[in-house]
Amino acid sequence: MPRSMARDVLGKNTQGTAGPARYSLAMAPSKLRYRISHLWFCIAFPALLFVVCNAINIGKLAKWFRDADGLDLSALIAYLTAALCLSIFAFALLAHRYMTKAVAIFLVITCAAATYFISKYGVAIDSSMVRNTFNTDATEVGQLLSSQMIPYVLFLIVLPVLGVLAADIVYKPAARHLRDSLKVIALSLCIALASLYVEYNAIFRAGNVSNKYIVYTLIPINVISGSVNAASKSLRPYFRRQQEDIEFSASVAAPKDLVVVLAVGESSRRKNFSLYGYERRDTNPVLRGIENLHVLDAIATRASTLYALPMILEKSGIKLTTVTSRAGVPTSCIVNYTLYDNCAAVGEIKVGNCGHGGKCYDEDVVPLLAQNLDSYSSGQRFIVLHLGGGSHGPAYADRHPPEFQQFKPMCMDADVANRCSLEELYNSYDNTILYVDHVLGQVIHTLDTSQVPYVLIYVSDHGESLMENGMMFHGVPPGVALPAEQR
Ligand SMILES: [Zn+2]
Repeated sequence: MPRSMARDVLGKNTQGTAGPARYSLAMAPSKLRYRISHLWFCIAFPALLFVVCNAINIGKLAKWFRDADGLDLSALIAYLTAALCLSIFAFALLAHRYMTKAVAIFLVITCAAATYFISKYGVAIDSSMVRNTFNTDATEVGQLLSSQMIPYVLFLIVLPVLGVLAADIVYKPAARHLRDSLKVIALSLCIALASLYVEYNAIFRAGNVSNKYIVYTLIPINVISGSVNAASKSLRPYFRRQQEDIEFSASVAAPKDLVVVLAVGESSRRKNFSLYGYERRDTNPVLRGIENLHVLDAIATRASTLYALPMILEKSGIKLTTVTSRAGVPTSCIVNYTLYDNCAAVGEIKVGNCGHGGKCYDEDVVPLLAQNLDSYSSGQRFIVLHLGGGSHGPAYADRHPPEFQQFKPMCMDADVANRCSLEELYNSYDNTILYVDHVLGQVIHTLDTSQVPYVLIYVSDHGESLMENGMMFHGVPPGVALPAEQR
């Protein structure tokens, strides 16, 4: 790249004049150059990028906003408005005085690539995709190249990049520049949040039903959030506060022989357990027959797994498994799915070699529990069991083997809210509770036959909404109270 161009891309003031600095492109013919204030560039550029790239794939996005009466236009418009404002917000944050054109060109190229791959292959752009991109070698790139790319390269990369390079971006003096930028940032964020709140239920539902595909196909939100997440993931090891670094002492006050098993469930709400008074049908045929069972009165304060798990497995920033293992209590975590970093001190033992054609279910933790108990002779032991399939939607039928499809007809469509009756939804959900009942029964049976002295505690991470007050699944935005069913 010629030096003059490189300097301009970086936004260096090539004229050295006092007053508002002008940035020109030496290479572009002067006729094609245009002047634009930094403020307007921060609005117009992301808006154009957003409209052009998303227009190409709008069908893939809109299909998730269908309800019984057809397209839920108000929800789709609210979602697109929020996304447009967030794009402007993010660009205004990143497009610092000396980086405006560099950020714009980076976004043009990455968004064009994302648009092409979404359009041709329907891929979802998330942080793993961004990381894959950076780890792709030349052979793989060669295999992906095709003549179909030419119009995309021309219209989504070459012309927009020339358009960015031809801009003479006019910057105001520092104080006014900062004030204007802050105005754009604040206003766009407010409109985005307001749009999301107005149609929260419909947007949240579309997000869940599509498995967040509505976010991963939305340009440039997917590219920006994927890049930020990928960067933070690769930097996290350098910044993570190590649990080992936290100073505390732990010891066993009253040593005795006891195995404590803490089973952590997923999205299984109290309301549908017969043990808690559910009357529609018997969802706890196994547990009902077990003696010495105490019904706990636990309440979730967070309804997203990532935040709910530490409510059970962490206190004052210290993980329970870090405390027990440091106190010398042999500690293990046996998981179906993952407990994230809640077991970092001892690591996770994941289910594997599962029956059911290689597909793992929560019951697959049981043989690993039995194996663990085999080596017990005396003393304390702490075992966390993660029943991570639990009652997680929208594909409730995927959480248990087919023989647990007992209550029928079931809801077999991911678009639970629109394609299934309440009866079907409850049938599907109740089958998952029936399966939790079965798995806990197996856990208790395993503990009983091993003859170890034990305590078993079962608790779900949070509950689930099943269309009560129009809410579905779990998770609410900050500041919104958790519905009773999710608590
Ligand atoms: Zn959860």
